[in-house]
Amino acid sequence: MEHSAANLDEAVSGREANDAIPLITEIQRFCLQDGPGIRTTIFMKGCPLHCPWCHNPETQSRRREIYFYADKCTGCGRCVEVCPTGASSIVRSGKTQICRIDRSKCIGCVKCVEACLSEARGVVGREYSMEEIVREAVADLPFFERSGGGVTLSGGDPLLFPEFSLRLASRLKREGIHVGMETSCFAPWKVIQPLLNSIDLFLVDIKSMDPEKHRSVVGFPLEPILENIRALIMAEANVRIHLPIIPGFNDSSENFRACVEFLRSFADRLTGVDILPYHVYGEKKYEFLGREETYRYKGIKEISPRELVPFAKALAESGIIQVSIGGMVGMGTERGLKPGERR
Ligand code: SF4
Ligand code: SF4
Repeated sequence: MEHSAANLDEAVSGREANDAIPLITEIQRFCLQDGPGIRTTIFMKGCPLHCPWCHNPETQSRRREIYFYADKCTGCGRCVEVCPTGASSIVRSGKTQICRIDRSKCIGCVKCVEACLSEARGVVGREYSMEEIVREAVADLPFFERSGGGVTLSGGDPLLFPEFSLRLASRLKREGIHVGMETSCFAPWKVIQPLLNSIDLFLVDIKSMDPEKHRSVVGFPLEPILENIRALIMAEANVRIHLPIIPGFNDSSENFRACVEFLRSFADRLTGVDILPYHVYGEKKYEFLGREETYRYKGIKEISPRELVPFAKALAESGIIQVSIGGMVGMGTERGLKPGERR
């Protein structure tokens, strides 16, 4: 779906999304690439965008989904017996039989997951109470303190759940935890502004500096994102830019030049920039979700970090304090930085 700047409000901050409590796909501990230090990353399920190279496709839909691991399926049919909607069925495959899921009929009731004895099905997205998440995070406080780490709200996009994200960030901060947010920044400023006091670090993606490509490939306009990045800088938020580099989409010298030019004007006010070469880690997930035909990057060669060194040098020469290839920020680099506080 394509969004214009005019219907941005409706697209990403409708009442339904604003009030929503997200399903969580994963609470991942000991992460080293989602901000400074050792971090616990909370992956919320739901994203306003559908980037075709997404390596976390399980976080795109807000609905609960079912992973199906075909190589574990024995074709026993237990899932078919319990499925209330007829979404599960058995089909013959050569001499054996295997089950199939009609995703259009699946309501995510998870009865098949409970019934399957061979763990051929898994649940993607579960409800967590605020306290459960906080408990998970607090368990790692000693690691956060020693490494200058904390918690990163990610997804999907936490901005699709701004009230939940604000409450969670405020709660974590009361525990003395540094809170980062990984976001597309595709939201009206009025959705982002209330978060300024609770988010210590915004990690914002720029997918391409070409507005036409951005609109046609990712399906939404670039300008609101760039405006929000400028507004975050003006508000003295700590901002780190993520630049995913996707073969054939944004790996051109024109795009690299445009990124440097855009970031140059506030280079010394950025916490840093991470160049993130495309990788294939998400490929299997498309298969498990029954969406392999939507994945257009199958077999595409990964970009070697060495190829991106000139780009990294150009960013560093523009005045950006910290530039990484791969996003490993390191221990303690931003320890103690609070919203509005700078090194
Ligand atoms: S219950 Fe599990 S093993 Fe049996 S047919 Fe269904 S998915 Fe396959
Ligand atoms: S989650 Fe429920 S509706 Fe979906 S396939 Fe399993 S049993 Fe059927």
